[in-house]
Amino acid sequence: MIKTVGLILNTYPYSESSLILKIISWDHGPISIIAKGIRRKQESLMRFGEYEFQLYPPKEEGLYLLKDHALIRDFSSYPSPQSWAAADCGLELFSKIFFPQPDNREYYTLITEYLKYLQKTKHNGILIFWRMFSRLLKMMGVPLNFSNCAICTKECQPLAYNPSGEPICADCKATLPFDHAYRDLSSSAQKIITLLPEIGNHLEEIKVNQVDITQINELFLFHYSSMQKQNMKLKSLNVLCQFYP
Ligand SMILES: [Zn+2]
Repeated sequence: MIKTVGLILNTYPYSESSLILKIISWDHGPISIIAKGIRRKQESLMRFGEYEFQLYPPKEEGLYLLKDHALIRDFSSYPSPQSWAAADCGLELFSKIFFPQPDNREYYTLITEYLKYLQKTKHNGILIFWRMFSRLLKMMGVPLNFSNCAICTKECQPLAYNPSGEPICADCKATLPFDHAYRDLSSSAQKIITLLPEIGNHLEEIKVNQVDITQINELFLFHYSSMQKQNMKLKSLNVLCQFYP
């Protein structure tokens, strides 16, 4: 039997009485657990909950078996519905990514610190989501480099991005044929991306709109999909967008 601390990213009903838990664990990275008979008992296992788990390792490949659990931290309450929605996006992202080094504890710290930060953030949670996503890409070894143009490689303030989520400078954009598959970046989206590493200091002053959100989300998801050769879509991002004008 093993003991590990883990955060529940998602739960799925399984048979009449059981539950499958998808968690990220401190010791073993992302794992799936079957909680047999749990739905017949009074105790609950919730998404957003950090627990200490006692588990039987999988016999062959597959699911760990839950023996016992105890709640450590509850990450389910936020100061606003939109902060909750941003937290939800973080869990969905972590439940879908491919971890190059699954047992790297930095991932665990990143997601739990993210939730903690949102618990004291009322507005503009999406900015914190992008900051977290950008740190995650760096950790995975595929950082979103936004200071050099993908075509001429010169240092630039990007005006657009291509379907691989790479930036394009003003000069290169001017020479591209009109039907080239790039997307423009609004000036406010450019500003947000530039400020991202220190965005925590600008939460009050930045006004995010739907256009910025669509562009920056696409940029991240295009970049992730092209780097990891894995298509990435997040349903919860559509919910989060609804909170902005
Ligand atoms: Zn260029």
